[in-house]
Amino acid sequence: MKFRTLMTLLPALACLPALPLPRTAATGDGSAWHATRVGDPESLPLEDLRSFYKFIPVEGAAGTRSVGNGEVTLTFGPDARDLLFNGIRCRLSRPTRDGGHGDLLVSKADLVKLIDPVLRPTYIPNRRAIRTVVVDAGHGGHDVGTVSPYVREADATLLVAAALGRELSKRGFEVVYTHEDNRYLSDQQRVDAANAAKDAIFISLHLNSGRSDTSGVETYTVEPAEPSPDAKLLPGNRNDAANAALAMALQASLVRRCGAADGGLRRARYSILSSVECPAALVELGYATNKDEGALLDTQDYRDSLAKALVDGIATFAKMMDPATELQARETPAAPPAPPAAVKPAPPAPVKPAATTKTKPARQAKPATTRTPAKRTKPASSGRRPR
Ligand SMILES: [Zn+2]
Repeated sequence: MKFRTLMTLLPALACLPALPLPRTAATGDGSAWHATRVGDPESLPLEDLRSFYKFIPVEGAAGTRSVGNGEVTLTFGPDARDLLFNGIRCRLSRPTRDGGHGDLLVSKADLVKLIDPVLRPTYIPNRRAIRTVVVDAGHGGHDVGTVSPYVREADATLLVAAALGRELSKRGFEVVYTHEDNRYLSDQQRVDAANAAKDAIFISLHLNSGRSDTSGVETYTVEPAEPSPDAKLLPGNRNDAANAALAMALQASLVRRCGAADGGLRRARYSILSSVECPAALVELGYATNKDEGALLDTQDYRDSLAKALVDGIATFAKMMDPATELQARETPAAPPAPPAAVKPAPPAPVKPAATTKTKPARQAKPATTRTPAKRTKPASSGRRPR
């Protein structure tokens, strides 16, 4: 597959026809979609998605299904949890299912809270210009994070945070550090710093730990909200769509600029993400426990390249969120949505934001036992919202 990232993808996104939002029954045209219920959750045929975005089938690797338009390619499978956006890996909230007749079923949750925000970021709700970046170096003080023979997490994150702040300032962003020296902060203190900033995003920096042969970068956002009508939205869930676009911009930039293995865009219920009121991401910059990557993370050159990649991703996201970008998109002649296929008799169903049934943080590709829970930013049990 041709390698692309959001950086090269953004101009193409602005050229996409200004179709109604798939998620907005009140303002959009739900007739473009055919809700299908295969047990729970509700899903949509990939064919509908292809038609809505005016994609065409694209030949891909065996066992995968790809659709695209020459600028953007979405590849599903063969692992039903994986979606590739122009080669960048995302973990879906819900696996795709066999829809019969050669079609795949994609969950509405993933359409509304991952696929559409990445394809059409100018439609993200509650967009506003981003002026401030709250930079959080993970760990500090007696909480040293992951320690390996190659690098110490708290030291490396502090140094990347400083480099990131410098680069952001050069690009005109206001920078707020949760801490600039090696000291302990509670998660709540970090969250408070994020929530005190105006027109901000929050980026928390970490190193990963795992098997010695595991390497790569991963970007986490808060798990999208549950569908229950009486479920209270966590603050972080108000930004589900923006979170996905931010995480994709960061992950794509890190993989492209730094050549790191693509551990993918993932979701978790870490309280440091779910309690933050602005768009937020937690970036695992690499595996401290991998000899090669750990050694790289201990070098200033690599830390600087990580910082520059993060700034590129942030700048891409900020452009998406800028109302001026919306104007540009609206200048594109609006095209009516493709009419529903006549062969499908199912009545049109409004597409509502569905959410996941997951109760656990997104799992790592590696065995859970290789993770050191005590070294995580937030223990999963305390960062999870009781159901
Ligand atoms: Zn950490």
